[in-house]
Amino acid sequence: MFENKEKTEINELGEFGLIKHLTSRFAIKNSESIKGIGDDAAVLDGKGKQVLISTDLLLEGIHFDLAYVPLIHLGYKAVQVNLSDIYAMNGMASSITVSIGLSSKFPLEAVEEIYKGIELACNRFNIDLVGGDTSASKQGLVISITSIGYVDADKVVYRSGANENDLLCVSGDLGGAYVGLQILEREKLIYLENPQIQPDLEGKDYIIERQLKPEARKDVVALLDDLNIKPTSMIDVSDGLASEILHLAEQSGKGFTIYEDKIPLDPMTYETARELGLDPTVCALSGGEDYELLFTISQDDYKKLKNDVDVTVIGHVTDKNSGCKMVSKSDQVHELTAQGWNAFKR
Ligand code: ADP
Ligand code: MG
Repeated sequence: MFENKEKTEINELGEFGLIKHLTSRFAIKNSESIKGIGDDAAVLDGKGKQVLISTDLLLEGIHFDLAYVPLIHLGYKAVQVNLSDIYAMNGMASSITVSIGLSSKFPLEAVEEIYKGIELACNRFNIDLVGGDTSASKQGLVISITSIGYVDADKVVYRSGANENDLLCVSGDLGGAYVGLQILEREKLIYLENPQIQPDLEGKDYIIERQLKPEARKDVVALLDDLNIKPTSMIDVSDGLASEILHLAEQSGKGFTIYEDKIPLDPMTYETARELGLDPTVCALSGGEDYELLFTISQDDYKKLKNDVDVTVIGHVTDKNSGCKMVSKSDQVHELTAQGWNAFKR
């Protein structure tokens, strides 16, 4: 990946030199961040709000494949994935810590690329980098990010608050990240067979971006606040729509019914799924990594939201005994499972 670029051995800098080198460009932006990098612990001021903390661990070969993930995107996405969890609590993220494990194959330039992506995400979402840890790794790259956010005590939204007859809403569109991944995997196989062939990603930019460069939906949290809507329950779509609905159902002790024809799909997602012989609905239900927000609102709030094109009502909350169901385009009722739904019964 960085064959032709300049390489500086990390050992030349030493651990503290490396930390300084990587973090010197990060200035503190939020008044909540009292002390960032440089002491034994960061000091944060919640200003009377409740504190939200979420961590993700990303392992090379398990969560990402450096054959097609540019390092700058990896850094960017690692932050987004984490911020998404804070937004899913209806809070605002304000800082992160970043811990990395580096194998000897990584030159300084490679780590710099990761930090460029982290910096981009921090600047775009107004996040402070307030700490982390750095270590050698025997094999492969490890990145763990912790994000810290704040929310007013009366505004925090759990997965458990859905009420019967609430409307189920989702932001943006679904399935794109998964279909984008299928294209990247396909091009990787072609490349491995014949390195002369350049990847053919033409006309696929949106879904490739959905996979490589997801954007956490801070804007949706802000929108809901503007509209004076507090969702009754909320989760971010990391594992696929079906799996997230099952989480809301279980934790709220309710059932859900969704309508296949309401699931928002981008035309490129739809067409590319078809090209690849995949069912676009299954891609949305089981694909994951869309990082959209899935939430329930009371019916009274519907009028405040109905003109917003970026939020789609896809179903409603039922009683627990009704289970989690999808009404298909042909009006058949299917049970939702964590793998999406049983496509064979169609
Ligand atoms: P300690 O010995 O207490 O673990 P370190 O020497 O590892 O401290 O870290 C020094 C400072 O640099 C701390 O503020 C720490 O949070 C920060 N830091 C270490 N590694 C990273 C990293 N990869 N990214 C950002 N900050 C880091
Ligand atoms: Mg340390």
